[in-house]
Amino acid sequence: MLRDLLIEKDFFEEIRKKALESDEEENSLDEIDLFEKAVFKRLKKKRSVKKYKKLGVTKSDLKEIIELADIVGLDVLGGPSNLDIAKDHQEWCTICGRCCRESESIFIHKDELNVLFTFNPDLKEGIIPNKQYPGHYELKDIRPCKYIDPETNRCGIYDSRPQVCRSYPLVLVESGGKSKNIINLRHSCNYSVQLVLEKSIILFDEALRRLEKN
Ligand code: SF4
Ligand code: SF4
Repeated sequence: MLRDLLIEKDFFEEIRKKALESDEEENSLDEIDLFEKAVFKRLKKKRSVKKYKKLGVTKSDLKEIIELADIVGLDVLGGPSNLDIAKDHQEWCTICGRCCRESESIFIHKDELNVLFTFNPDLKEGIIPNKQYPGHYELKDIRPCKYIDPETNRCGIYDSRPQVCRSYPLVLVESGGKSKNIINLRHSCNYSVQLVLEKSIILFDEALRRLEKN
């Protein structure tokens, strides 16, 4: 019910289906399920259903709001973009190192090479042609990335790390000829969970404001 105050139901279902299909490579359905449960656990503490019971708000409303926060950048609704929120909250990264240990591939755009080699000439030995995107590159030694410090989880080439590492947990994808930053929905990444939680709170409050106004 709450989500319908923010976006038309059929339209939401259509874009959710498309987003899940196109993002399948990054976010499997099982992983999304675990992820949404992790956000829900935190959201119900921040926005208790009990408090809004009189207005008819239920747990399903929270779940529906999270589904919207997963896939829609708030900038389309006049709010901050995924990137704006993420860059203001780097403290959400717990430096657990999972992204550096578990990533299937660390993409390097061909235009990044000059800058990367200028700051770290040794990197030349650690880069190979990208198997999926001809003309681009990727790190050679991954899972775990050879540059992660096993004790501190810090990046050994932090100042010259690839752009995908700088943007994580946001992932740049092509959609309809345009680039957009989607969130890598990993339940084990505190940064991703907090990011969707923050968006869910903003969406919940806006929906509630509209509900009370009606
Ligand atoms: S971005 Fe996420 S997975 Fe990577 S270190 Fe930070 S919290 Fe861990
Ligand atoms: S280059 Fe650094 S930030 Fe990127 S995956 Fe390796 S250790 Fe992590």
